Amino acid sequence: MTQGPLILVIEDEQPIRRFLRASLTAEGYQVQEAEMGGQGLRLARQQPPDLVILDLGLPDVDGQEVLKSLREWFKAPIVVLSARGQESQKVNALDYGADDYVTKPFGVAELLARLRTALRHSSGGMEATPVYTLGELHVDLGARRVVVGGEEVHLTPLEYKLLATLIKHAGKVLTHRYLLQEVWGPGHAEETHYLRVFMANLRRKLEADPARPRYLLTEPAVGYRLAGE
Ligand code: CA
Repeated sequence: MTQGPLILVIEDEQPIRRFLRASLTAEGYQVQEAEMGGQGLRLARQQPPDLVILDLGLPDVDGQEVLKSLREWFKAPIVVLSARGQESQKVNALDYGADDYVTKPFGVAELLARLRTALRHSSGGMEATPVYTLGELHVDLGARRVVVGGEEVHLTPLEYKLLATLIKHAGKVLTHRYLLQEVWGPGHAEETHYLRVFMANLRRKLEADPARPRYLLTEPAVGYRLAGE
C-alpha cells in the first residue's frame, strides 16, 4: 500500500484533532498529532511532514510563534486554523509564511480543498500549466490572452498583471499587502484603494455578475482568492 502525504496537526482541542484524523486518514493522508506548540515543533523536526495544520490558539505558545519557528527551516505548506472574526491574525499568519487558513468551524470539503491546493503549489504542479480555465474564463499566460465565453477581453497591463498574479496562486488566498507589492511594487503595500479599483475593473470585464463574483473572490479584511480550477 502506498503511503499518502504526512500531515502534522498541531491543535489543543481533542474533538477537532479527532475530526481531522478521521477525515484525513479517510482520504489516504497519514496523520501525526500534537496538542501543544512545543511538541509540534519537536515532532516536525523528528519527522518533517509534507504539510502542517496549525491552530493559532494554543495553550503553551502563541500559534504565531510556532509559525515563525517553523518557517526558519520548514519549507512545506502550513495551513492555519483560526477563529472567526480574527482577520488581523490571519493576515499576520499569511505574512509570516502560512500558505492558507481555514476559519473555524470549517467543513471537511473546504479543508480538503485547501490542503490539495497547498500541496499542489508546493510540488510546483501549477507552473507546468500556463493556461487557467474555469467556467467561461480562459487565460493563456504564454500568449497573454484572456477569453470570456469565447470573446477575447482587453485588459490594461496592470489589470493583466494582477490577474496573472492571482492565477499563479489560484485557489490560495493572497493578502492585500502581497498583491500590492507584486503588482505595484514594494513602495505601495498600503495602497489598498488601488486594489479595490482594479479588482472592480477586472470583475466588470470577467464576471457575468460583478456583484456576485465566481472567479475573483473577496476574503473579507484579508485579501482576494482566485477560485481554484
Ligand atoms: Ca485552540
